[in-house]
Amino acid sequence: MKVSVVKETAPGERRVALVPEVVSKLRTAGLDVDVEAGAGDRSWFTDDGYAEAGAGIVSRSEALAADVVLMVGKPDAATLVQLRSGQVLIGMLSPLTDPDLAQALATAGVTAISLDMLPRTLPRAQPMDALSSQANIAGYKAALIAAAEYGRFFPLLITAAGTARPARVLVLGTGVAGLQAIGTARRLGAVVSAYDVRPETRSEAESVGATFIELSTIGPASGDGGYARELTEDERLAQQQELAGHIARHDVVITTAQVPGRRPPLLVTEDALKAMPAGSVIVDMGASPLGGNVAGSEPGQTVVTDNGVTIVGAAGLPSTMPTAASAMYARNITALLLSLISDGALALDGDDELLAGVIVTRDGAIVHPALSHTNQPEA
Ligand code: NAD
Repeated sequence: MKVSVVKETAPGERRVALVPEVVSKLRTAGLDVDVEAGAGDRSWFTDDGYAEAGAGIVSRSEALAADVVLMVGKPDAATLVQLRSGQVLIGMLSPLTDPDLAQALATAGVTAISLDMLPRTLPRAQPMDALSSQANIAGYKAALIAAAEYGRFFPLLITAAGTARPARVLVLGTGVAGLQAIGTARRLGAVVSAYDVRPETRSEAESVGATFIELSTIGPASGDGGYARELTEDERLAQQQELAGHIARHDVVITTAQVPGRRPPLLVTEDALKAMPAGSVIVDMGASPLGGNVAGSEPGQTVVTDNGVTIVGAAGLPSTMPTAASAMYARNITALLLSLISDGALALDGDDELLAGVIVTRDGAIVHPALSHTNQPEA
């Protein structure tokens, strides 16, 4: 069975789905591995490195002819038309926010497996958890960006020229990225507070050194699968108002809040921004074309408000550390792939809970329960 890796085509994407280290592992498991020439260039993995690990270096169309095609993100339109019926595509395909792609893959007869749909709470899914590995990188980088943008020190510094007080950092959303942002800001010497709508994250936030903030106007909002649920309109307004007071008392805010398949919740409103002193910094990891956690944030851009608050629209952070992000992602996708191999062939037993969680399309149809409403054969 032939497995291949293609170069990512999304603008700004520097990651690659396999690195040489895991090519050897796949070959030991009896798989042939092809890598599109130059696929690892932007994350500093050379064609020679892949070849030494036993991969074939091939053209894009040859790579797209493999039995299983591995990607980090989604295929673009030009890639999609080259895929054929019966092929397997594995990547982070975001089918909840891009059901049209899922439909197109179903129509093409491609079996689409999406790593971002993994049932992450299953213990055996841990080594495959690409959302966590990439969120860890993003949280780390968000804290570094905040420290670099901030016009003062993060740590308490006592010098001959006087004493600098430590920065007060607030992390909103204490999932995987938020916890890593807390830990990184703490290691840089900041005093860190944190808030999440899931109260069970309190002990995790405290264990990495944050003081947990509880809001009195809104109750717990834990949803399924370890995620938050979407807030009601009343809850949202109450949360925004109460958070504004806390936000104004911090120098730096890092926002990481997400609700699966939904627009990221707005946590920092225009009024909250107006109450922040000049020189404050916000890093919005939720920044997206649909809007982010912060009013006025733009993905990939840094804007400064009229009252001097710097807002960094921190989209796509894992790609800014492409070598580490690719190495981790490669281990995740390899763990998933190897778990699907039996006697050198793919065994896609749809009754398996893990597999049922990640298979989006099969035999010409959308089969994922979370997308069943879109499961319409095309006219
Ligand atoms: P995520 O990226 O979906 O969201 C980030 C955080 O934002 C979450 O903690 C969420 O509660 C929070 N959030 C959402 N709406 C909010 C709002 N309105 N206000 C404040 N905070 C809000 O989450 P994630 O980091 O991908 O993972 C979520 C959780 O899943 C993890 O913290 C963990 O508990 C669980 N998880 C479990 C395992 C496991 O069991 N092995 C593995 C991975 C993740």
